[in-house]
Amino acid sequence: MSNSPFKASIITLFPELFPGPLGTSVIGRGLKENLWALEAINLRDFALDKHRSVDDTPAGGGAGLVLKPDVLARAIDFTSPKNDTRPRYLLSPRGKPLTQNLAHELSKRSGVVLICGRFEGIDQRVIKSRNLIEISIGDYVLAGGEVAAMVMLEAITRLIPGVLGSSESSKEESFENGLLEYDQYTRPVDFEGQKIPEILTSGDHKKIKQWRFEQSKKFTKSRRPDLLKK
Ligand code: SAH
Repeated sequence: MSNSPFKASIITLFPELFPGPLGTSVIGRGLKENLWALEAINLRDFALDKHRSVDDTPAGGGAGLVLKPDVLARAIDFTSPKNDTRPRYLLSPRGKPLTQNLAHELSKRSGVVLICGRFEGIDQRVIKSRNLIEISIGDYVLAGGEVAAMVMLEAITRLIPGVLGSSESSKEESFENGLLEYDQYTRPVDFEGQKIPEILTSGDHKKIKQWRFEQSKKFTKSRRPDLLKK
């Protein structure tokens, strides 16, 4: 393992939101045990005018405000200087969708720099000049990039070696093999008259594996046929 852990730097107008949910349970334990690191940078610290303004009205007119490129560029250059090898992502509904595959790839990198938009978004020129990769967590619009950044980080950090205990292996989960997961059961064997499928208590591991695979295929076909096409 490398000596410095995966490091996430988040540029945001609301640094107090972090680590938020990332500070609890296994991912929070991983953070405390330095299996990964988090730094939240306050974008407003890079506004130099008297009013510390970070936004302005959109060129061409229209509703809302746009984050200023000069302020954001200063924050990015401070957080991620030229020799930083971490990819820089801008959370954005216009981005490519976040996938489990990408989460795996990123969990093997030295870290990520995440930029959280607010209002109408950010000036296009800083996206270009600072090589920001736009990434979306789904086809809906949030009020800001912070929750999206947390979603992305939660997906990545649980894949960092040591973060999930061996009892919580991620190998057989939804999307890991292009399929959705099979149904799960635990004790009691009889819950309000519903029994655990007999095969799961049979002890026949080969048959159980086959049954789970058939279930996965069935669910994927009916719920997410788009996954089977890939
Ligand atoms: N005007 C923009 C939406 C701005 S929403 C548009 O129509 O594309 C404000 C901020 O919330 C965005 O800059 C982005 O950082 C974040 N955000 C909203 N929806 C998101 C999504 N689906 N995925 C990732 N980030 C999102």
